Amino acid sequence: MSVPIGLQLGTTPDVPLYHIDRFRMKLPPLSPRIASLLKAELHLHLEGAIAPTTVCALAARHGVALAEEEVRRRYDYQNFAEFIEAFKWVTSFLHEPGDYALIAERLAEHLLSQNVAYAEVTLSIGVMLLRKQQPEANFEALLRATEPFQHRGLRLRWIFDAVRQFGPEAARAVVETARNCQSNAIVAFGIGGDEMSLPTADFRRVYDRAREFGFHALIHAGEVGGPDKIREAIELLGVERIGHGIAAIHDPALMDLLTERKIPLEVCPASNLRTGALARQLNREHARIEDHPLPTLFRRGIPVVLSTDDPAMFHTNLEQEYTNAARMGLRGNELARIAQMSFDHAFSAIGGKPAA
Ligand SMILES: [Zn+2]
Repeated sequence: MSVPIGLQLGTTPDVPLYHIDRFRMKLPPLSPRIASLLKAELHLHLEGAIAPTTVCALAARHGVALAEEEVRRRYDYQNFAEFIEAFKWVTSFLHEPGDYALIAERLAEHLLSQNVAYAEVTLSIGVMLLRKQQPEANFEALLRATEPFQHRGLRLRWIFDAVRQFGPEAARAVVETARNCQSNAIVAFGIGGDEMSLPTADFRRVYDRAREFGFHALIHAGEVGGPDKIREAIELLGVERIGHGIAAIHDPALMDLLTERKIPLEVCPASNLRTGALARQLNREHARIEDHPLPTLFRRGIPVVLSTDDPAMFHTNLEQEYTNAARMGLRGNELARIAQMSFDHAFSAIGGKPAA
């Protein structure tokens, strides 16, 4: 999802509320061949991956007694606004570097359980700055916490993310923070948040600056917005990957452009279903996972990388996303191809698929 719409005090999401299908169906197991493939995750927010037990542990650190049931209740949304409330609530327990170390370590364990060998994890630096934290210290702590996982076969890289509705100045501060960290583990700069808020052109200079510092560029676009948001991101900002981008389905010329330039869409089906983005793009009140345009986009030749977005908050994991893709009608060899593409489109040279 695009985080975090309406994080500013006193605002509400500038996006209509959608009915969200309760995502409770029992899924058939994924074929052992696909389940056992090594995988990469390229669209994954650290703050959206905090499992209920970890939320309780964080709360306890700060003297708040919290029952797991309460977290599960907060993670059960009826609409987009409730989801955003839950995001704000869960991130309010992240105060200091040790908190980030804890959630990063738990995420790394989770990724290993999903056969993930490489991940580019998005950090909401824009939110850390808003809360007057020291992102450099948070980053240092989570780097240290995840270093040992490299020996267990998990390589991690990081994406520093700004919040669109906070504006270009705040986004620029995120780029400067990335540079201050002086770490080759930071591979890219991106923007999430409310894609309907500020014009894409406002961020042109911010992306120029990020490129000057050697960062790759990406953005959330075409999640709830139209195909024009994707086209602008490519033409005005020069982004190399698109977060979500499912709105491309409405624009054949844009789909050709994505194919020709080999610009991947980071597709997150469970997220699209649960936030109502899928229903919105299909112009329906309700949508089912089988209605997702992933097979159409993939078979048209657009590179796609399959991801979880906010796995804990959307009750998903990478294996389930491959199961979702199978439910959409993608065959075994197509799923294997998609798994390979997630390595091919990594921003870091270390993102290549390791030898089995
Ligand atoms: Zn996202």
